[in-house]
Amino acid sequence: MKIGRVTVLVGERAGKYPHGNSLLVEGTHETAIVDPSLAVAEGAFALPPVDRVLNSHCHEDHVAGNGRFPAVPWHFHEADLPGIRSLGALMAIYGFDGAIDAAWRRIVVDQFHFTPRPDPTPFRDGEVFDVGGSRLRVIHAPGHTRGHSFFHVEPEDVLYLGDVDLSSFGPYYGDAWSSLEDFERTLAMARELPARWYATFHHIGVVEGREAFRDRLDRYAAVIADRERRLVEYLGEPRTLDEIAAHRFVYRPQDAVSFADPVERRSMGQHVRRLAATGRVREVDPGRFVAD
Ligand SMILES: [Zn+2]
Repeated sequence: MKIGRVTVLVGERAGKYPHGNSLLVEGTHETAIVDPSLAVAEGAFALPPVDRVLNSHCHEDHVAGNGRFPAVPWHFHEADLPGIRSLGALMAIYGFDGAIDAAWRRIVVDQFHFTPRPDPTPFRDGEVFDVGGSRLRVIHAPGHTRGHSFFHVEPEDVLYLGDVDLSSFGPYYGDAWSSLEDFERTLAMARELPARWYATFHHIGVVEGREAFRDRLDRYAAVIADRERRLVEYLGEPRTLDEIAAHRFVYRPQDAVSFADPVERRSMGQHVRRLAATGRVREVDPGRFVAD
């Protein structure tokens, strides 16, 4: 799909994870690629020479193809920048322990071609990359990770949303570097951003028009409230965080995800904490919570 100087490089299975849809912006004096996907890593596209790589955040699927462009700058929001410097630093973003961490390290290297780099280039909110004829403006949109950012491409009026992916899975805030409350602020902010086209990294792809975008965004955001409603219902009896994680609120019980446990614990732990802060949940004895 092509919109002016912007090309959406649609990955396998329409970009469904672990695949994704990268953006190529071919300006009059340089070409930028946003979030080089697995398909880019594996040489699936005939690309023109690329002059810079822009990453919405430092996650395995979004940096999978960075290694194809070793000689050009790689740009990250300053908050996510450390993650690309080493495998250990990337793993700190996820924050898994023991065997889960060890297995995930191997997957990130073997299946996602993780290529560390000591000298990435930081960007901040509001920074503009001018490729000639088109510009990409950074909009810091944290929550998924600390540095997660959107790019607004003008004059094409394409808002690239990265992993605010509008999927039925809903928002992911299960990493050590995730924040539910930042994610909610980001969703509210995104709702007010006018654009003609809204592009996500994963399988939803490109949505045209603000009404269609808001409709999808509202359904996506509603997954958070739905998780919280199910949690309160489950806390009709006192439960520990172990029991909450085992019950599964983010993933379905049948989803074979090696890191489901820590992700459930971290995601739903954030819900428990805020419900406790507003008195909707109380700790009956240490580590056991019940809804009031
Ligand atoms: Zn991500």
